[in-house]
Amino acid sequence: SPIILWFRRDLRLSDHAALRAAVEAGGPVIPVFIRDDLVDRLGTAPQWRLGLGVGALAESLAAKGSRLILRSGPPLEVLRALAEETGAKAVYWSRAYDPDAVERDTRVKEGLKDAGLDAQSFTGHLMFEPWTVETKQGEFYKVYTPFWRSVKDRDVAAPESTPGEIPAPDAWPDSEALEDWRLGAGMQRGAAVVRPHVQLGEEAAQARLGAFMASKVADYDAGRDRPWQDGTSNLSENLALGEISPAQCWHAGLRALDDGKEGAETFLKELVWREFAYHLLWHTPRIQDANWREDWDAFPWNEDERLAEVKAWKQGRTGMAFVDAAMREMYVTGRMHNRGRMIVASYLCKHLMCHWKIGKAWFEEHLIDWDPASNAMGWQWSAGSGPDATPYFRVFNPETQLDRFDKKRAYVQRWIAEGQDTPSEDALAYFEAIPKSWNMAPDDPYPDPIVGAKEGRERALEAYENRDF
Ligand code: FAD
Repeated sequence: SPIILWFRRDLRLSDHAALRAAVEAGGPVIPVFIRDDLVDRLGTAPQWRLGLGVGALAESLAAKGSRLILRSGPPLEVLRALAEETGAKAVYWSRAYDPDAVERDTRVKEGLKDAGLDAQSFTGHLMFEPWTVETKQGEFYKVYTPFWRSVKDRDVAAPESTPGEIPAPDAWPDSEALEDWRLGAGMQRGAAVVRPHVQLGEEAAQARLGAFMASKVADYDAGRDRPWQDGTSNLSENLALGEISPAQCWHAGLRALDDGKEGAETFLKELVWREFAYHLLWHTPRIQDANWREDWDAFPWNEDERLAEVKAWKQGRTGMAFVDAAMREMYVTGRMHNRGRMIVASYLCKHLMCHWKIGKAWFEEHLIDWDPASNAMGWQWSAGSGPDATPYFRVFNPETQLDRFDKKRAYVQRWIAEGQDTPSEDALAYFEAIPKSWNMAPDDPYPDPIVGAKEGRERALEAYENRDF
């Protein structure tokens, strides 16, 4: 009898344990993607990017003589109905680890079992299941370095290739049309501005990995800190949607290390930061929306979104070039260099003393590589409220950071048009992308800092000194 394969954030055919198991069972496989309320609740850019990813997966499946069935509604009902229509006796999927998905999947599994169906979840989104990594005291890790040490020498199963054939059923069940879903419909700038920056689908992800390993990885240790240079893998967009598996990246990294490319170790460490973020999220779901260190609740955060400073931060006109360049990069490309993420987050939480939740929500709305675990960890790390966070009193100076990481101002010039005679295409693209209501033009004078580097630092430190915890 057929097996239903429920795709979610695992939009690939290679190194896919659930797909492999379904194919090996010998009967027809019915791939389905369900538009449920978790999909509906995604931020605009992540939802838009998901729509592209689902389209690309449908094409890969079609090339294998299979098909992606699209349905909307509560997953349990959809899956039960689909099983009834097709005579399927089993549903397989790849595990997810964020609290909403875990809750949904637990309910779905029980419900399917109650209906007499075989429901099985498989590994793949992570290399190290969060419950398999623990300290000597049997607790979860709250600090990265010991986490890294405890997993770095583990055997990660070698990635599996794409199944040669995906057996089709005699008749296909009905499918909804992806265009009708209008995923990310609010993304007005999507097609014209962001789309050219997207590397869509499994094949593109593999090409990215290959290109990174061929040229960038050797110098990655230094290259990853240069926002003006394309020195990183850019795979976050693909990892977020499972268009590539972490194990595929890991093994490529190990091979590079064997070839004597030293930067590869740092790359492996970054992949483990991603695992660590999921480890934290799985063990402490509240990291998503509450200060991980509860005493931070007493800190005098600004939480009012209407503040002029918050608006300036969002619109990339704080007058701090590093901050503004990075915010504009995100608006145009849907991604932001890691150094930029750290600087804009520090500026918001420290210089502007705004609650990290404001920044986290803005990222969640605008990143095409949005990831529930890395985004939450990144914000709490930057704010000082998280586990293994940078201390609040260590305030990034957005001006000296420029001297260290963008000495020639190439990054700033790429993204900020104001004050330049011949702004770059990217700098101008920003003005095509933003809403008219922001009332910004490339020939405006570049604003003075809304909060100066020194002044903001002093204010933040004073609040920190006077905190009552
Ligand atoms: P590379 O440098 O090539 O690294 C390879 C992979 O390792 C990445 O694709 C990513 O999966 C993982 N990785 C690298 N750095 C980190 C990190 N610091 N934390 C966790 N995983 C990491 N990353 C996201 O994928 N989605 C997010 O929503 C996200 N939000 C962030 C928010 C803040 C405030 C901060 C400080 C960081 C955030 N990051 C997020 C982490 C990091 O900035 C990106 O993963 C990285 O910039 C992606 O670029 P890359 O793929 O070229 O990474």
